[in-house]
Amino acid sequence: MSTDTPVHEGPGILVERPFPAAARDALKDAQLRRNIGKATTTIRAKRRNAVAEMPDWEALRDAGYAIKRDALRRLDENLLKLDASVTAAGGTVHWARDGAEANRIVGDILAGHGAEEVLKIKSLTTDETGLNGALEARGIDAIETDLAEVIVQKGGDRSSHILVPAIHRNRAEIRAIFKRELPDTDDLTDDPKALTAAARRYLREKFMTVPCAVSGANFAVAETGSVAIFESEGNGRMCLTLPRVLITVMGIEKVVPRWDDMAAFLQLLPRSSTAERMNPYNSVWSGTRAGEGPEEFHLVLLDNGRTAVLADEAARDTLNCIRCSACLNICPVYERTGGRAYGSTYPGPIGAILTPQLDPSAEAATLPFASSLCGACYEVCPVKIDIPRILVHLRSKANAAKGTTGEALAMAAMARVFGSERLYALAQRAVAVGQRPFVRDGQIRALPGPLAGWTAMRDLAPVPKQSFRGWWAERKR
Ligand code: SF4
Repeated sequence: MSTDTPVHEGPGILVERPFPAAARDALKDAQLRRNIGKATTTIRAKRRNAVAEMPDWEALRDAGYAIKRDALRRLDENLLKLDASVTAAGGTVHWARDGAEANRIVGDILAGHGAEEVLKIKSLTTDETGLNGALEARGIDAIETDLAEVIVQKGGDRSSHILVPAIHRNRAEIRAIFKRELPDTDDLTDDPKALTAAARRYLREKFMTVPCAVSGANFAVAETGSVAIFESEGNGRMCLTLPRVLITVMGIEKVVPRWDDMAAFLQLLPRSSTAERMNPYNSVWSGTRAGEGPEEFHLVLLDNGRTAVLADEAARDTLNCIRCSACLNICPVYERTGGRAYGSTYPGPIGAILTPQLDPSAEAATLPFASSLCGACYEVCPVKIDIPRILVHLRSKANAAKGTTGEALAMAAMARVFGSERLYALAQRAVAVGQRPFVRDGQIRALPGPLAGWTAMRDLAPVPKQSFRGWWAERKR
């Protein structure tokens, strides 16, 4: 699929195609691979340098992991405390079981204010619920304000990265989108400054005239009822301070008990995501305050499958994720396919474990197989999520759900062979003879029937004529 082809916004978390089919299409797009390869290589190097400056980085990762693990163990207490603190500070808390309920709550609040437009701060959680589409159905235009989200929205496209949603676009493509969609862009060049200025002109007008905004949240602090957003551009801060009505949609796993807990994340997040020592804009708000910021604040706490993730002890650490995107930038599979092949809001390694837990479809169950299990994602994760271990756990669940398949029977037979020295030696001899018609120039390039899958993507080295055991026995004679 060419990157010029508009991909209209999907239904959030629901995966529409199995990963292998989507990845095969993505691999045909050389421009996409070049754009993503260039961007991830640059950001990988920057992150490495930013992390190397911190002698206590490993201790910080341990602290981040411990805080998230304990916060999740007491999630019920923390959420009730957050509800009480936000209410005491003048905000209103809403509980949403799923995305549809969250969208309805947000739509009702906006409709109650007669809103026809709403400002949006970049938010994966509202992408997950498909909020923009739900608001559009009620006649309310959601206006994205993050520069990359503007590119994605105006391009009729779909995000391909957690942090840099338009990573698959180059400057020339962005210029074409802006010229088509933004006002006063007849003389627009592809100079980054000119592109940013065009977006700024368009956004300033919206900031000054639209009175309602919707945001996500990076964290919420139970003891104070504070909600925090960390960002690089400052567009988020405009949405948090200028409108009269602010609605925040937050996944329930984002709550931490105390202010002190934020110290670790304020160091871990920026270095892992944008490779900065600190996020340029750290905005924190607690309820409402007369004469300052929004007059009305609503916090929507979204479950949407998270309590089920929490209940699975082997996969629970998935909820530790602070959405830094370091695992995407290091992943060899993501680098080649890009994010859209994952088919949902969450691409890359975190998407491969989070999406199938939130979306029970057979299409989403293909995502845990989108990994070479190289372990690079675990090494960079600032909150030490053992993604490879969770991938294997989800793979076995997906295989169990398929029931008795030819593959399952073959694997059971192989387990028997590998468990018996006699059967293994017999099998080795049988394969050495049986493979002969397929060996060409020392390689097996195509196997027949159900074995064809092994050679569809790679050549196979043939079993040697003499096994190590045979060689050893001969040597001792
Ligand atoms: S899984 Fe870890 S590395 Fe990946 S986005 Fe989440 S916190 Fe970052």
